[in-house]
Amino acid sequence: MSQDPNIVTRPPVLMRAIRKAMAGTESVQERLDHFVDAITEAMTVKVASIYLRRPSRELELSATRGLKKSAVHKTLMAPGEGLVGHVAQTARPLNLAEAPSHPLFSYRPETGEDKYNSFLGVPILRGGRTLGVLVVQSEAQRNFNEEEVEDLLTVAMVLAEIIIDDERIGGQKGALKGITLAQTKPETFNGKSFADGLAQGIAHLHVPPVAPSNLLAENIATEEIRLEDGIAKLRASVDAMVSGEAASLSRASKEIYETYRMFAYDRRWVQRLREAVHSGLTAEAAVERVRNEHRARLMKSPDPYMRARLHDLEDLANRLIRALAGESISPGKKGLPQNAVLFARDLGPAELLDYDRDKLIGIVLEEGAHSSHTAIICRAIGIPLIGRAEGILDRIEVGDSVLLDAETGDIHIRPVESLTANFHLRMNIRGEVAKAYEAVKNLPAVTRDGRHIALQLNAGLLVDLPQLDMAGADGIGLFRTEFQFMVSEFMPRLQEQTDIYRKVLDGAGQRPVTFRTLDLGGDKILPYMDPVPEENPAIGWRAIRIGLDRPALLRYQCRALIAAAAGRHLRVMFPMVTTVDEFIEARAKFDREVKRASSLGKTLPNKIEVGVMLETPSLAWSVRAVCDHADFVSVGCNDLMQFFFAADRDNIRVSDRYDPLHPASLSILRFIAEGCEMENVPVSICGEIAGRPVEAITLVALGFEALSMPVTGIGPVKAALLALDTQKLKERITPLITIDSRLPSVREHVREFCMEEGIPI
Ligand code: PEP
Ligand code: MG
Repeated sequence: MSQDPNIVTRPPVLMRAIRKAMAGTESVQERLDHFVDAITEAMTVKVASIYLRRPSRELELSATRGLKKSAVHKTLMAPGEGLVGHVAQTARPLNLAEAPSHPLFSYRPETGEDKYNSFLGVPILRGGRTLGVLVVQSEAQRNFNEEEVEDLLTVAMVLAEIIIDDERIGGQKGALKGITLAQTKPETFNGKSFADGLAQGIAHLHVPPVAPSNLLAENIATEEIRLEDGIAKLRASVDAMVSGEAASLSRASKEIYETYRMFAYDRRWVQRLREAVHSGLTAEAAVERVRNEHRARLMKSPDPYMRARLHDLEDLANRLIRALAGESISPGKKGLPQNAVLFARDLGPAELLDYDRDKLIGIVLEEGAHSSHTAIICRAIGIPLIGRAEGILDRIEVGDSVLLDAETGDIHIRPVESLTANFHLRMNIRGEVAKAYEAVKNLPAVTRDGRHIALQLNAGLLVDLPQLDMAGADGIGLFRTEFQFMVSEFMPRLQEQTDIYRKVLDGAGQRPVTFRTLDLGGDKILPYMDPVPEENPAIGWRAIRIGLDRPALLRYQCRALIAAAAGRHLRVMFPMVTTVDEFIEARAKFDREVKRASSLGKTLPNKIEVGVMLETPSLAWSVRAVCDHADFVSVGCNDLMQFFFAADRDNIRVSDRYDPLHPASLSILRFIAEGCEMENVPVSICGEIAGRPVEAITLVALGFEALSMPVTGIGPVKAALLALDTQKLKERITPLITIDSRLPSVREHVREFCMEEGIPI
């Protein structure tokens, strides 16, 4: 193999001919005609034909050189019929020296193909679908050699990309007489709604396919070197994963990493990539071509295990493409259209925050979990998110129109008009409901029996601030300071941090803001910090544990908060506190910073409150003790429930398995509320459940008087509270929350109560 880029290895004759055929700006039909001409000349064969699949799945002869032109757009092959149908069905090349004697040979007199003996057919694949078949034939009885098979596969890939791309931009509509190559059939997928809302937009892929303009190599030697380089980088990163170095970057299990490694070192895979580059493709296009071949085969496999392996290969191919592009970030961020609905297998919170939020209106993931931070951010910024939409990446095309219904979890791709019309109607109704919330926006959330409940916002970025007014929130009950760190390219310096916190306080005006110190670790990784390998990051070195072990970061943050709140009210709390001692230690660090600011003659905040996040069961059982030291308690239900039920909030198999309205979890929540009340320390809830009406009214009935939630929860929760008689609900559920309760959840009882009482939920 040539390894010196200074030696220009010219692409094979066929590739040069194809490049020429691509250069014109003719219609799709003319391009197909040029393709078959170029193929016959470069491969010195008599016949080259392109069969394309119609929506009815029949294969239509769409261009030919060598067969009778009169058969073009007339000859149709049923699925599986003849050699061409067989190639389409198996998604594999078929290479025969004497085609007419093959049992599947189907003679079509109108084409005049009887005089040709040798036959080579290759599938035209894209996104795991077979778009058609490319065939060459000649009179001589001979098998085509391996290089010729490779070349034809490469041409088939270029063909697929060119035609789909032309289709997409709409310039050549109708040119192929009714053959539609892009997916046009409407399809509906169902997933799980992780962030409510409706959106109509244009599909955009987090990991986009290679652009057709970058398919053909200028210089094969350069591409060979790039490929080897990319494979080496890929292998190094997969090795690092398996050895645990990057384990905290992803929740995928070791088993998956091992499978990755198996594929990354698979000699046949690498060999296929090398062959594809050798045939004249760029390294990226080679990855894409081999990926398409695997997809087409694996998707047909009856074995679910094999079909599941497709994901691993997809991931690996994406990683390789990224390694080739020398990018650590996803290339999908480029070219985000207006009203984009983003499709990805999974998306980390930092990746999400990297997207332009003026353009992004919805997200669909094949994986994801309700209480992952990506889902939390989506709810906070009002972007509907549907997760666990299995298999959708195999069906979606960039530019497809999409209706995203995160009320039901449905995703409609290429929807029919009647569905769109109905969707618009529902969007309007939502608008009306939002107006109804708007009408009560400035009313205090007072229950029918006179309890005043503070409804606050969970926020984390400066752009969240206008939502305070939009939703009529009573303040920010949880400001996740780490989000601002996650969207920065470098660690924010003291002054930058101070400026950010000052702007938050400015934005909130008279309303209180509770800043939470950095909650890093778990799925919250800073792009500029090396992740520490951990088996169980959620219960590992995170949050206040890092703060206490590496106090510089915590100290600086406290310093910035104290400076930002000069002359104002400052509320600070520490995350993931597990024992009272930890809180005492963290508070001492904060107090030291106050003393320092004072000794330097700085203006101090006019009021300081230092609270604790209660998100571990151990601290719940020490609630009264921690109240001796904390000015307030804020219950982080996302983590508390994860630890209480021993169910990883990011693991899709277990995250929804337990209902937070189980009598056992309600007992612990009531225990916390009562403990705080006895100690006369204010307590609030700041997990996601506070933003759901059924959960929210139950929490209020347990004794919580402040709820902090995503912006989308404030309207519905306020509407429910205005109709609630707290005492009545308390009387209804108290007998159900007992140590010997056999109920799996009190949810149905609360719902029933709401129906009787006319509480909107
Ligand atoms: C929680 O755990 O409930 C919480 C509010 O914190 P986070 O979701 O950021 O972990
Ligand atoms: Mg938490």
